[in-house]
Amino acid sequence: MSYEVKCTVCGKPTTNLLSYKCISCGNPLDIKIRKAFSRGEIHRKDYSAWRYIRFFPYVNARDVVTLGEGWTPLVKVSGNLYFKLESLNPTGSFKDRGSTVLVSAIHKEVKRLGGFIAEDSSGNAGASIAAYAARAGLRAKIYVPEGVSGPKLNQIMFYGAEALKVPGARSRVAEEAQKPEGGKVYVGHILHPVFRDGIRSLAYEIVEQLGWEAPERIYLPVSAGTLLLGVLIGFKHLMDSGAIDEMPKIVACQTKQVSPLYHRFKGLPYCPPEKVVTVADALVSTSPPLLEIMHQELKAAGGDAVMVEEDEIFKTFKELAGIGFYVEPSSAVAYAAYQKQLRIGEATSGEKTVVVLTGTGLKTALKPS
Ligand SMILES: [Zn+2]
Repeated sequence: MSYEVKCTVCGKPTTNLLSYKCISCGNPLDIKIRKAFSRGEIHRKDYSAWRYIRFFPYVNARDVVTLGEGWTPLVKVSGNLYFKLESLNPTGSFKDRGSTVLVSAIHKEVKRLGGFIAEDSSGNAGASIAAYAARAGLRAKIYVPEGVSGPKLNQIMFYGAEALKVPGARSRVAEEAQKPEGGKVYVGHILHPVFRDGIRSLAYEIVEQLGWEAPERIYLPVSAGTLLLGVLIGFKHLMDSGAIDEMPKIVACQTKQVSPLYHRFKGLPYCPPEKVVTVADALVSTSPPLLEIMHQELKAAGGDAVMVEEDEIFKTFKELAGIGFYVEPSSAVAYAAYQKQLRIGEATSGEKTVVVLTGTGLKTALKPS
């Protein structure tokens, strides 16, 4: 086999791509690809994330469910600074990379079982899964927090998915979504190894768009960790395959309220607020189930973590819009973190830097003042 799905704790393997946790110990699963990355195997005429289909060996080409995701613009903003416009994916966020791979890998099996898929999300992943379910002709139930942004909820419902609001903490939403029900196949993007693995294409694209050179720094917002872990796996795959010579410094950017990884990484105690009240509505995981894995992987890759204040988020959101980049406030967190590191001298403008702009501003319910 050119890939293997294994438990991250006890190592028990599985061949069931519908599984999201280990059947022995309940811990998260991980996918390892045993096929080296090689530039010669890219489908150069496919301008989507599927140009890298050869490196997703668990998906059959005839089963691909696509809306044209990926191959998003990498825009040079100034000097050595680039923005990767993940906000231009079909449903308006980077999550489409995970959804297209996950739904492609499992839709036939879910249909064979006569089932439907269930997902829990603060909004973007729910909208994305709902869209790919619609494209595949699958039924979907999306569990969302009570405070979900209105435009994201509308999007989920217009795609034809059933949206269920769950009051209380973000973890309660996941519990509800995981409750067994006849025909339900839980595909929560936070835990599902195939969704996370799908994000890998982002690393390949950044390097290919920079002329097969890794940037020195990459800034990305981190909540539950799918983006961070997917990008880390992708760069590690490129390194292990000899496609790049050096790992970029990957910087995990968090908000003051939702910063469990930042605190874990810096060895500081973290006390989450009782209720998260933030304009960064996509960053709400105060207790992410993959925290330890994120910490280990980020440390092993020589990465870093930064935290920004609430008032910096809105300010940076407006600043980005003021230069033409209309992204959601959660995406502005990464650019705010980059500016903070520049100010305190931990980063320099001489380093080739990519800031990932994760989601579109068209989904924000904020009003200009
Ligand atoms: Zn296990």
